[in-house]
Amino acid sequence: MLPLVTGEDKSILCQKTKLVTDPLSPEIQELLPKMIVTMHKEHGVGLAAPQINIPLRLAVAEVEKKQYFLINPEITSRSQELIVSEEGCLSLPGEFFPILRSETVTVRYINEKGLPKKLRASGFLATVIQHEVDHLDGVLILHRFLKQEKKQKNLPYDQPL
Ligand SMILES: [Zn+2]
Repeated sequence: MLPLVTGEDKSILCQKTKLVTDPLSPEIQELLPKMIVTMHKEHGVGLAAPQINIPLRLAVAEVEKKQYFLINPEITSRSQELIVSEEGCLSLPGEFFPILRSETVTVRYINEKGLPKKLRASGFLATVIQHEVDHLDGVLILHRFLKQEKKQKNLPYDQPL
């Protein structure tokens, strides 16, 4: 069980992560099952490394009893069709925001065996993957929600998230 970082003011949660250089290193191989255990204990469906104070491009997820080990994930395509869902986050306990995301995405990543993978995901799995990749880019649902609100109200905003 790894301690969670919580609060939108924590810098580790708001910075871009570094690529994992060796997915098969003992450090990473020991970390992955610990992340799964922590995610289960916290009743989450995903957990990104910055949430446990590790600034690496790495996340785990579990949807419909299938586990995903997303090492160095990159979303390579996003559908124009959007879906909105009420999202929560282990780093923002008790806070929920309606977040608009692509209905379908394609993600490339390295799996826990060090193999390159390409996954096309839709619906809830696509939402979870986008949420976790956001973490790896230093973006929390609070930030995304505020950006969405500004866009809807047609207010100017300086930089893309
Ligand atoms: Zn989260």
